[in-house]
Amino acid sequence: MHIAIIGAGISGLMTALELAEQGCSVDIFDQHQAGQAASWAGGGILSPMYPWRYASEVNQLAQYGKSLYQMWNEKLLPITGIDFQIHDTGMLIFDQEDFATGLNYAIQFNEPMQQCDLLNHKQLEQVNPHISTQFQQAIYFPQLSNVRNPRLLQSLIGYLKQHPSVRFFEHCPVEKLIIQNKKIQGIQLEDSRNLFADHVVITSGAWSQHWAEQVRRKIPVHPVQGQMLLFKTPENWLPTMCMNRVMYLIPRQDGHIVCGSSMADCGFNTAVDEQTQQDILTACLEMVPELEQFPIVQRWAGLRPSSPHGIPYIGAMPEIENLWANFGHFRNGLCMGASSARLLRQLMLGQKTLVSPIAYSPERLKKQDLISS
Ligand SMILES: Cc1cc2nc3c(=O)[nH]c(=O)nc-3n(C[C@H](O)[C@H](O)[C@H](O)COP(=O)(O)OP(=O)(O)OC[C@H]3O[C@@H](n4cnc5c(N)ncnc54)[C@H](O)[C@@H]3O)c2cc1C
Repeated sequence: MHIAIIGAGISGLMTALELAEQGCSVDIFDQHQAGQAASWAGGGILSPMYPWRYASEVNQLAQYGKSLYQMWNEKLLPITGIDFQIHDTGMLIFDQEDFATGLNYAIQFNEPMQQCDLLNHKQLEQVNPHISTQFQQAIYFPQLSNVRNPRLLQSLIGYLKQHPSVRFFEHCPVEKLIIQNKKIQGIQLEDSRNLFADHVVITSGAWSQHWAEQVRRKIPVHPVQGQMLLFKTPENWLPTMCMNRVMYLIPRQDGHIVCGSSMADCGFNTAVDEQTQQDILTACLEMVPELEQFPIVQRWAGLRPSSPHGIPYIGAMPEIENLWANFGHFRNGLCMGASSARLLRQLMLGQKTLVSPIAYSPERLKKQDLISS
């Protein structure tokens, strides 16, 4: 079975991995370099930020993220030499209005990843001595981790590039789907070359609307910009991830701390601006004032592929045989990336699925958004 995948972010790379490991031959295309868009820009928290604020469909896929990435890291590391560092830091949340809901949620779902405790000031100091004294309490999720997503991508790319049944096409924008009698035949590149495939998978993140006209559906996925900044502190300086008012700090093992993030509807713009960077900085220093003594070493922005309720489209596209979707992961594409790809592979190969696929089905595009022409 020969498969073409359009987009080499986490969604496309994980899909390629799942399919190649099952013996499929895979061509993966990216308009730029592989693994440089949202999946590189993201923070890598392996959970929705406040799980109770998200649809159960999002949490359901996210709960497999950590264990699947651990499994893949063990498999890929000996071949690529890249450890993508699943860092078990736990997460502190300071938003008081979420305490009761968070604790109830943990009891209700009894899921290891969602276990949490309410910490008093003394306990908080023990868990993380750098927190501002203005926070006397926090809820603590000891099981939550983050993945070093740029390394995860490097590892996937490295592994797939040496895989005998995978071919990479970078700096190769896919312009069109080749469809005949409602069946996919392949893809056409921007330079007018045609490449044939038995199946095509759309994993083009924030750019997925590009396919709307050809599939004759509205695709309600658009870019939502998120900005970040990066501190460099001594190794293992900050022991936990921290979150307050939807702003977070994510410590990496080597002392880098990723701080973010903003939300803005400004099209495909990935420029950072002073005001937004200042807002992120203020929110982070409010949680951990001592950060002020450390240098900011990088700033960037990425484009999240937003979708209604953040529920991705995974499965067969309506009415066009052998065309598949895995896009629209919005704020949680890294934590859902591994399980989304597994679900899609299981659907494509007619295997038993890890979760019920119905809620993710692209049939939703048809019901909600038929183009009238
Ligand atoms: C600031 C920020 C923080 C985030 N933090 C987290 C977090 O902590 N945890 C989490 O789970 N998620 C997080 N996310 C969300 C997550 O990064 C995204 O949901 C995820 O990366 C989407 O992956 P993707 O592969 O679908 O898209 P992308 O990584 O954007 O990949 C899509 C790829 O498709 C390519 N492409 C598009 N159109 C074409 C075409 N026509 N031809 C060829 N190639 C094409 C693009 O070049 C791109 O490389 C964050 C995002 C941002 C921006």
